[in-house]
Amino acid sequence: MSNKQAEHDRLVALLNAANFAYFNGKESHVSEPVRDQLKQQLIALEAANPELISPKSPTQRVGAPLGGRLPKVPHLTRKWSLSDAFDIDELREWTTRMERETGRKIELSIEPKIDGINATLHYENGVLTRAVTRGNGQIGEDITHAIRTISGLPLTLSEPVTAELTGEVYIRKDDFATLKGEQFANPRNLAAGSVRLLDPKIISKRHLRMRVYHLGQHNMATPPATQTALYDWLQAMQIPSLAPVWVGANAEEAINFCAGFASQRDQFPFEIDGLVLKVHDLETREQIGFTAKVARGAIAWKFPPTEAVTRLKAVMWQVGRTGVLTPVAELVPVLVDGSRVSRAILHNRVDMKNKDLRLGDHVVLVKAGDVIPAIEKPLKELRDGTEKQIEIPQDCPNCTAVLAEDEMRLRCENINCSAQLQARVHWEGVGYGWTGSKNGRITIAKWAC
Ligand SMILES: [Zn+2]
Repeated sequence: MSNKQAEHDRLVALLNAANFAYFNGKESHVSEPVRDQLKQQLIALEAANPELISPKSPTQRVGAPLGGRLPKVPHLTRKWSLSDAFDIDELREWTTRMERETGRKIELSIEPKIDGINATLHYENGVLTRAVTRGNGQIGEDITHAIRTISGLPLTLSEPVTAELTGEVYIRKDDFATLKGEQFANPRNLAAGSVRLLDPKIISKRHLRMRVYHLGQHNMATPPATQTALYDWLQAMQIPSLAPVWVGANAEEAINFCAGFASQRDQFPFEIDGLVLKVHDLETREQIGFTAKVARGAIAWKFPPTEAVTRLKAVMWQVGRTGVLTPVAELVPVLVDGSRVSRAILHNRVDMKNKDLRLGDHVVLVKAGDVIPAIEKPLKELRDGTEKQIEIPQDCPNCTAVLAEDEMRLRCENINCSAQLQARVHWEGVGYGWTGSKNGRITIAKWAC
């Protein structure tokens, strides 16, 4: 088997397992941003090697793998997902494409993207008859019993409308805080797990909520013309919805709005993981249509993730001003929380050993607040056998003095070690790292700390 084929197989296996966990409310060791990033890697690998594409690849499937417990029901109309934009250039490409295809400047609207479970409601003659998860876009799971527990959602409407309404089912952050005993990592996981419970009495204790943002098939003579009009109509029907946070025809302003919004994400009572940028006029959006996998008239802007996956290239040993050696990971540069990162903290050699880190590993990088990112763990399933053990130095990589060691740390005890002296001079702003090589040659690396 070729290397590329093996790499493809590993990525597909990891992503399929992570997707199943994600869509079925199970715990996964791969977070959503890491899953997104690995999927982009897989897309790039398949673009360069199209012969690798196979039906089992998650790039070939729309939506979610289905679990086994709930009845499966077909959707009335195909349910599309959205493509994701992770950087401003992708957003700009999309707005340019929309303008080119419609031949004019078009009105756009922006909504918060709730991090919840996608579901579609069927109202028949004004009565809620069914609720279905997106599933694979053609067939979803019947979650009517769970949706009926949402007290804010009307079971009957004031008009005898027949309509398919799609939105997001979620659990508020404050409700999640009081439900902490349920041992789910985040509100989204708890919501995904809750809609799949069978007993409505238990589900009702989870305080599910829903916001609707899309009108599918319907029998209205004069349907709402824009996203704002849809919001107004939903309000009139007392169906919880999401008001656009921005509407306008200036694409560049829309892009700037998206780029600057991440800092406001905490103002919502629910978790949001981005914004959705839409063609505001519903008929134009419909005309723009779909690809095999996604609706083209809208795009999801994902906030910069605070987690990323990259490769561990080398470990440098930095000699500090007290002689303690700190391992510093050298990484293939990657964007985390909007900034480019090529080095990360490894706490000590015991931490490194516990995590079973190897050179060449795919590693998950986490940035908490403004601190230097740390390596959380390696993704062992992506190893190809070329990874190497990390060598622990016996001698000071700077002055070659034999190192003293306690449980956690290695220390150079040579008080004349020039690395320590320099670190003392520079410790307020800049740190120096020394890496030793087997032939005794010493290279100096420098970074702002
Ligand atoms: Zn030394």
